[in-house]
Amino acid sequence: MAGLSRYYNTADLSDVTICLVDERLDVLHELKAHRIILCSHSKWFMNAFDIRYKVGSSAAFLLRSRGVEIDSKKEALSPIIDIRDDDTESFKAMLEYFYTSDYDVQTGTPECTQDTQISKATKIEEESYSLSLLFHIRIYAMADRYEVPSLQALAADKFREVAKKSWHTAGFLEAIEELYTLTLESDGRMGRTIATIVHQHRDRLMESERMKQLIRHFPTFGHDLMLEMRRQWQSSCRGGTLVMCTKCKQFVVWSPDSYSRAICFKCGIAFNGRSAKTTSQAKAPHRPRSISTW
Ligand SMILES: [Zn+2]
Repeated sequence: MAGLSRYYNTADLSDVTICLVDERLDVLHELKAHRIILCSHSKWFMNAFDIRYKVGSSAAFLLRSRGVEIDSKKEALSPIIDIRDDDTESFKAMLEYFYTSDYDVQTGTPECTQDTQISKATKIEEESYSLSLLFHIRIYAMADRYEVPSLQALAADKFREVAKKSWHTAGFLEAIEELYTLTLESDGRMGRTIATIVHQHRDRLMESERMKQLIRHFPTFGHDLMLEMRRQWQSSCRGGTLVMCTKCKQFVVWSPDSYSRAICFKCGIAFNGRSAKTTSQAKAPHRPRSISTW
């Protein structure tokens, strides 16, 4: 892939031009690209080119064509794709990803109008987190529109890294609002990432009025949180550690804080919980069948 990065937005071997246009179809940015790269990453582009060549010169997918004389008999098509109503910075980042397997966050400089130096520094840091979180959300939504699942995964991973440091800021809540405004997808990768972070810090986050509003306003967010709670519930050992009964090999819940003895409810024996095998030592399924779940 390293060699491919040098072809990002260059005319070398380029066989398609992408024009980012505004509502009046005025061109804001023109990007040189390669059909094979676009199609290998994005199903949307694959369909766009497919339709273009099936329906000839119709305006499907806003594709137009420009004839370029190569020799007297043959005319090669160098299509232009007009992309309208998209966030230009996000689009460029997506294109960058096609060629480099990564993208940079394009957010501009954070601004703030705080009085004291200390709070100003904090404010700028928070603003920077906020812009990054929003950028990753927009990349995620764009990757959804253009059907690029690998970019969605990358955006969710990058989001998680920033959110680990900034889950307590207003920017994190803004990012949640942005995600569920842009996508209706339930149990998506970004939704799961957010739900995991919210669940980790639920004691503080669930107290926030803004968080309660978000849950009321976006049922999909509420659903994602519920699914996360269920996942956590299923993978946790209620009331303690799961240890294997030395006699019947069933797993029972044992609380290390209370007694050193664990009691098996199946065969009734008591055994030493500290020396008994846990689920990971026994290489057993994390959730034993003897424990009922939802
Ligand atoms: Zn037993």
